[in-house]
Amino acid sequence: MSEEKVIPYKIYLEESEMPRQWYNMRADMKNKPAPLLNKDTLKPITFEELQPVFCDELIKQELDETTPYFDIPQEILDFYKMYRPAPLVRAYCLEKALDTPAKIYYKFEGNNTSGSHKLNSAIAQAYYAKEQGLKGVTTETGAGQWGTALSMASSYLGLDCNVYMVKCSYEQKPFRREVMRTYGASVTPSPSTTTEVGKRILEAHPGTTGSLGCAISEAIEAAGNKEGYRYVLGSVLNQVMLHQSIIGLEAKAAMDKYGIDPDIIIGCAGGGSNLGGLIAPFMREKLLGNKDYRFIAVEPASCPTLTRGKYAYDYCDTGMVCPLSKMYTLGSGFIPSSSHAGGLRYHGMNSTLSQLYADGYMEAMSVEQTSVFEAAQRFARVEGILPAPESSHAIKVAIDEALKCKETGEEKTILFGLTGTGYFDMYAYQRYNDGEMGDYVPSDEEINAGLAGLPKVD
Ligand SMILES: *Cc1c(COP(=O)(O)O)cnc(C)c1O
Repeated sequence: MSEEKVIPYKIYLEESEMPRQWYNMRADMKNKPAPLLNKDTLKPITFEELQPVFCDELIKQELDETTPYFDIPQEILDFYKMYRPAPLVRAYCLEKALDTPAKIYYKFEGNNTSGSHKLNSAIAQAYYAKEQGLKGVTTETGAGQWGTALSMASSYLGLDCNVYMVKCSYEQKPFRREVMRTYGASVTPSPSTTTEVGKRILEAHPGTTGSLGCAISEAIEAAGNKEGYRYVLGSVLNQVMLHQSIIGLEAKAAMDKYGIDPDIIIGCAGGGSNLGGLIAPFMREKLLGNKDYRFIAVEPASCPTLTRGKYAYDYCDTGMVCPLSKMYTLGSGFIPSSSHAGGLRYHGMNSTLSQLYADGYMEAMSVEQTSVFEAAQRFARVEGILPAPESSHAIKVAIDEALKCKETGEEKTILFGLTGTGYFDMYAYQRYNDGEMGDYVPSDEEINAGLAGLPKVD
């Protein structure tokens, strides 16, 4: 009979097995993602043009599409050691509850105070800001995970941190705000009257609950107005995805150690950073023609960027101050309904993932909020972890795929990214438990209205 090794419930890498480099998928792509464009000249943006906004080293990473591996600086490795390796967990209990022949694994990124994978990039970005001798950083936060992560990283390195928090999250999650303040950050609800762009957005959309796109515009303006400050972003950009490759590199090393090879890899997709990070080393195998995998991006039906958006140049922010990125987008003016997965309410998608999706290397699915919470509850009851609503999008599709295996009898191996915990999302869970949660799916008219605002670039 088969001599299958017994797989531990949780696989942790030894310290000596931890990745010491990040992996840049673009280096192995034949079709590179389209370059960022200067919004005024419509020419590919240069290092110098990005310098007033971003940190130098991060711009280099952003623009580099040929270097496959980047050494992780020792100080960042040391910080990673405080909460990494993240466990790769075999979801034995979930498999049993589903009565599926599928083998389900998840990479759990919620084992740190910020409660998500965001800390992986926050510490890197804060490190490069500090290295450059800057005083502080400004940023946006949607659900609050990124702001929390950046506050933690900034206080560790002694940087000032100013966070613009999407208003609906600011109101729904006051405790997130207090975690950030505990780590020394200042937090402003967005849109606010502290910036010109915030005032403009408030005038155009009075009573708006905000969006990531608005908060990004405000944070960029705030950075530009202060000497020694730069703007940092928690998702969407290729530099962020590079840092998040630590997720996939660890997961692959842990799987290789036990001879496990996934068939399907699933991640939730907001701006694309955790998904891109999780799939990175597996996608490398696929790009090089060594192996095939099914990659599935899962997004909310209320913000269906890949499944209903258009692949086109667009602004990364509502205020149209960012460079233009070619990506799947719903239009920078699209303000998604205030769903409970704040971290997935973004109109665009990382440019590398967009190109991979356009080239057929990856699939995408959209799922409705109530079905996501149903999956979250099911998971929490058997696996113990109370998942973040964002992460639960991946859980939902992992369960669906496992149930398909039950019908067909296939023993597929499924890997999904469990990006974080949901302890600050209890208001959302309450709505679900009280049967008050609804599903909002934008109409074609609403989608078309967003797309009609795309800039003309050719
Ligand atoms: C921010 C966030 C996401 C989505 O962001 P990506 O950049 O698409 O990864 C998913 N899950 C959690 C828990 C988050 O905090």
